[in-house]
Amino acid sequence: MQIPELKFPEYPFSPILGWSISRFEMFDKCKRQYFYQYYSKFVKDVPFYKVAKLKELTSVPLEAGNAVHDCMEALLARLQKSDSKIDEEKFFKFADDKLREYFTKKTFIETYYGQAEKLDIDTAAEKVRVCLENFLGSPCCSWLYMKAMTNKTGWMIEPPGYGETRLDGMKAYCKMDFLFPVGGEVYILDWKTGAKDEAKHSAQLMGYAVAANSNFSIPWNRIFPKIVYLYPQYDELEISFGEQELAGFFQTIRGQTEEMYSYCRDKEQNLPHDISKFIPSPSPGLCRHCKFQELCGL
Ligand code: SF4
Repeated sequence: MQIPELKFPEYPFSPILGWSISRFEMFDKCKRQYFYQYYSKFVKDVPFYKVAKLKELTSVPLEAGNAVHDCMEALLARLQKSDSKIDEEKFFKFADDKLREYFTKKTFIETYYGQAEKLDIDTAAEKVRVCLENFLGSPCCSWLYMKAMTNKTGWMIEPPGYGETRLDGMKAYCKMDFLFPVGGEVYILDWKTGAKDEAKHSAQLMGYAVAANSNFSIPWNRIFPKIVYLYPQYDELEISFGEQELAGFFQTIRGQTEEMYSYCRDKEQNLPHDISKFIPSPSPGLCRHCKFQELCGL
């Protein structure tokens, strides 16, 4: 079977909230944090610029991850143009420059909330380098050289937009890092620089498979999504699924979406109930990494 040209459908704008794994994760962990993140314009008694500024805070692990993703995007774009050998030292220098640029331009939770006097750029830079080294030495990289190169025009590297899709008719977001056809099959790869979380990442892979099926009309048995872990060592996560797993997945997404709807006074327009319904769930591990701790008086 020949895979058709991969093209994301364009959905007309709709205000209703869309499920995503990260949205529900935040909703599940702390409703107040969820309110600040997704309904910031409804925060009263705090100037909007203040909430907007807090929303933009980032963290050292997040920016190390961003730098790796940007470098992987650049690497794939380069491979798409030419499969000649990568100059690794030049590539690592590019990564280092990118990371240092982010560190100068952004405001970090660690220093904003006084958890650290200064940012440890060197440790973050080392992590980025290890991630990229792990990838370049991985079976996945060799496999890309051997197999994926056969149809480079069909590659989708960091597709634009937020990955809007429909899962069993429900609005959802599933943003993939890299999607490419090989023969009559489609492979989806997602890079991770953090810890392996099999339950969460398996759901993410299922979302990718469903999105590829519904967006591109590709049969299930020809879609192969995979998580590629780049730190501290190389690892992979793949899933196998059938009709039963899919039905369970849709049921879970529907249940989670309904739960989030229940915090809306108008779900079609995605208007939230009053902030008082969004009860804070403080815990030291969560609050320490929360951008909004100042608003919680912590
Ligand atoms: S500081 Fe803690 S309780 Fe407050 S919003 Fe953040 S995670 Fe929730």
